[in-house]
Amino acid sequence: MRLIALTLALALNAPAFAAPAHVHGEARLEIAVDGDNLSIHLESPLDGLLGFERAPRTPAEKQAMQAMKTTLEAPEHLFQLPAAAGCTARPAEVESAIFSAKAAAGHLDLDADYRWQCARPVALRAVEIRLFAEFPRLKLIKVDFVGPTGQKSGRLTPQQPSFAW
Ligand SMILES: [Zn+2]
Repeated sequence: MRLIALTLALALNAPAFAAPAHVHGEARLEIAVDGDNLSIHLESPLDGLLGFERAPRTPAEKQAMQAMKTTLEAPEHLFQLPAAAGCTARPAEVESAIFSAKAAAGHLDLDADYRWQCARPVALRAVEIRLFAEFPRLKLIKVDFVGPTGQKSGRLTPQQPSFAW
C-alpha cells in the first residue's frame, strides 16, 4: 500500500519533474525513500559540474570530463547519510550526451542515479549534500523529496547543504 501511495505521489509530480529549467549553477535532486530503499536522482547543466557543455577539445578537457564522471560515480563522496541507517550503495548510473563521441552543441545536462538499501530506514531522516564541495560552480540545488513522511521541497546552498525530512 505504501508503494502505491508513493507511485501515485511521483505520478502527480511528473510534470514538475519532466521539464526542469537549464540554469547554470543550479542543479536538481529528487530524493525518494520507499521502504528500505533510498534513491537520489541528480540533474544538472554540465556547466555547473564541468565549466563547459560541448565535446572536450583538448587532453585537459578530456581529463576534466573523466574526473567529473569518476567523482559522480562515487556516492560516498557526494552524499553523507546517517550512519545509524546502515545504508549500502548500489552502483551509480551517470549519463550525459557529452560522453558520446558526437556530443551536440548547445546546452547539455547530466543525469545521475544513486540507490541505497538501508538496514534501518527509520534512522534515515536527513542527507548532507557534498556536491557543492566537489563542484564549486554549483550555487543552488533544488530538492524534491517524497517518502514515508510525505512530500517536501527545499533549496540547498553551499552554506546550507543539508536536507532533512
Ligand atoms: Zn547550459
